[in-house]
Amino acid sequence: MVNGDKIDQIIDHKLFTEADIHEMCARLGQQLTEDYAGKKPLVVGALKGAVYFLTDLTRQMDLQEELDFMDVSSYGDGFESTGEVKIITDLAADVTGRDVLIVEDIVDTGLTLKFMKDLLAKRGAKSVKCCVLLNKEERRTTDVEIEYYGSKVGNEFVVGYGMDFMNMYRNLPYIGVLKPEIIASLSEK
Ligand code: 5GP
Ligand code: MG
Ligand code: MG
Repeated sequence: MVNGDKIDQIIDHKLFTEADIHEMCARLGQQLTEDYAGKKPLVVGALKGAVYFLTDLTRQMDLQEELDFMDVSSYGDGFESTGEVKIITDLAADVTGRDVLIVEDIVDTGLTLKFMKDLLAKRGAKSVKCCVLLNKEERRTTDVEIEYYGSKVGNEFVVGYGMDFMNMYRNLPYIGVLKPEIIASLSEK
């Protein structure tokens, strides 16, 4: 929150409630449980946005999965991708021969996921797929396959459930759209 503002003074409208999110995690978890049956996937969470989604999703996956994290950034503090992707924190695990599932909060241009998928494939992963909560399909500029996603969203900037604006609002339990005046006032600072 900003200067102690109440959250309903900041959020324009809710896009997904906690129940909506739970339903998406349950559906995706069930699908992944079927598709990865008999495998021991390495689940790679993209920090920091995917943390909330990853913890709920993996608890719906009835598999012998292993977790790891990677922080890859193509965004500054604002809204637009800089177009440049860099590794902030690398994986601890060796991906050679592993079935890797990248978990990401939201895919926009696709640059971040394209970079991660190519990198992990180059390092010798047996398979590299991704599961994202939200898919901003119309914004895609990169040819990257999104094997699993929770829901499509339009061209709006969303926050909550891991997703931030200037590193705030990640801890909202639901997903909402910020009021335009909040975006304008914070962008000036
Ligand atoms: P891409 O590389 O696909 O353009 O960007 C992906 C990253 O940008 C996401 O992982 C997320 O961190 C950020 N991003 C894209 N759209 C949104 C949005 O609507 N809200 C927030 N909070 N982050 C977004
Ligand atoms: Mg992200
Ligand atoms: Mg961000």
